[in-house]
Amino acid sequence: MKYPVVNNFIDGKQVAGNCELLEVFSPINGKLISKVPMCGAKAVDDAVKAAQTAQPAWGALTMRERVQVFYRYKFLLEENADKMAQLVHEENGKTLGEAQAEIEKSIEITEFACSLPQLTAGEIQEVSRGVECRTQRVPLGVVACITPFNFPNMVPNWTIPIALALGNAMVLKPSEVVPLSTQLLADLLAEAGLPPGILNLVHGGREVVEALCDHPKISAVSFVGSTRVARLVYARAASNLKRCLALGGAKNHLIVLPDAHVDMTASNVAASISGCAGQRCMAASAMVAVAGSDHIIHRLCEEARKIIPGVNLGSVISAEAKERIEGYITQAEQQGAKVLVDGRGAQVPGNEGGYYVGPTVIDHVKPNMAIATEEVFGPVLAILRADTLEDALAIENDSEYGNAAAVFTQSGGLAKRVMEGASAGMVGVNIGVPVPREPFSFGGWNESRFGSGDITGKSSIDFWSQLKKITTKWNPEDQINWMS
Ligand code: NAD
Repeated sequence: MKYPVVNNFIDGKQVAGNCELLEVFSPINGKLISKVPMCGAKAVDDAVKAAQTAQPAWGALTMRERVQVFYRYKFLLEENADKMAQLVHEENGKTLGEAQAEIEKSIEITEFACSLPQLTAGEIQEVSRGVECRTQRVPLGVVACITPFNFPNMVPNWTIPIALALGNAMVLKPSEVVPLSTQLLADLLAEAGLPPGILNLVHGGREVVEALCDHPKISAVSFVGSTRVARLVYARAASNLKRCLALGGAKNHLIVLPDAHVDMTASNVAASISGCAGQRCMAASAMVAVAGSDHIIHRLCEEARKIIPGVNLGSVISAEAKERIEGYITQAEQQGAKVLVDGRGAQVPGNEGGYYVGPTVIDHVKPNMAIATEEVFGPVLAILRADTLEDALAIENDSEYGNAAAVFTQSGGLAKRVMEGASAGMVGVNIGVPVPREPFSFGGWNESRFGSGDITGKSSIDFWSQLKKITTKWNPEDQINWMS
């Protein structure tokens, strides 16, 4: 085992979980790398108590004082980028380059958090003679954050810098499949000067999540993961009268028009399906090819064949994930779809125990097939055919999800039609992974997001804080009118 058993992190100290241990395997080669404790309500309660004790002093600092920690954290993220990327690569299976890009994104969000003193400056106005109203951002107190396996470094950083800079204390539960990266983040934050108890980590699965949703001292819960669990978390946290933002899964459609730039479209679509082995909630999963686009499909297949498992394509997360993804491909084939590029049975020499699926392109998929509607979460593209742009949009609109959609065309008018008509929170034009960059916010629609607002950017400020409205009057009574 390359790494020791993972501990919880409570009140600035590593604390043994003293619970049943789950084995953690590297998906690159299937080797055991660590073990993680599957904790429960007791560990959550300990972490909440530490957070509750630490939060008042942290919340009482000015925002400028708090963000000094995140300036230092940003430099520590940069200094430790290679070490963190290596760990992400080992525990998640994505390529080293993809892991480095993930750290870059963590840095960008931290920079955004450092701008919060400017962004959250309140408003003041004399609303009637002698009477002033002003607003002030106030922390919520103790908040919880539950994260998925696919971005072990970036998704925790979607919430940590913003929620903490706004004055909250947090209990975070990382995915039990990738529990190692978050401890590194906690260590860097401690080095940057974050007081003990402001960020606490509790490891585990469902029991920890349920305890976080139920704990009376937790004010807000953010969740990122599958739609199935997002629904459960949202319903449970909301039924306990907490604010909750739960981001779920995705089925992202790319609409390709025959006038699209051939090389740019082919390389963008191929990168979108295969980046992070298709395990991105922003990955292209279904392509709707409008009549006359066969030349682009042909070129796309050439691009897809250049993507080699173990070279420029990482592994999927587990043996079960590989089996599920290959099952979707086989089922679609049996239902009459045509597999143009087949990634089943991929092997990487020297890493035979790893969980690899090669890039896969499947044509003539029908809208009612499982591969057209369900989240596959692997490097697989289902191509559906449409006669017109309106037909293509109808297919996109039909999806229960609504994370991302994109259009490839050289016509501004047709692109605008998709920008306006797509039923998705994040829309791209000639871009296969339309992730909004800071200060723009990240978040989908429909079954891809329960709750309101987005998880990053300006929109997240409202989620992680509450607004106090203060009205003041200092004039003697005889100088003011009845409106006062
Ligand atoms: P998951 O839903 O299986 O797990 C997410 C978290 O929920 C983990 O911490 C896990 O321990 C916990 N969990 C699992 N089952 C639970 C249960 N029954 N009750 C309570 N908690 C439970 O998701 P995953 O497999 O880790 O991640 C992949 C999914 O995340 C994909 O669906 C992907 O689209 C989605 N995702 C969405 C976004 C987004 O922004 N919308 C971003 C990243 C990932």
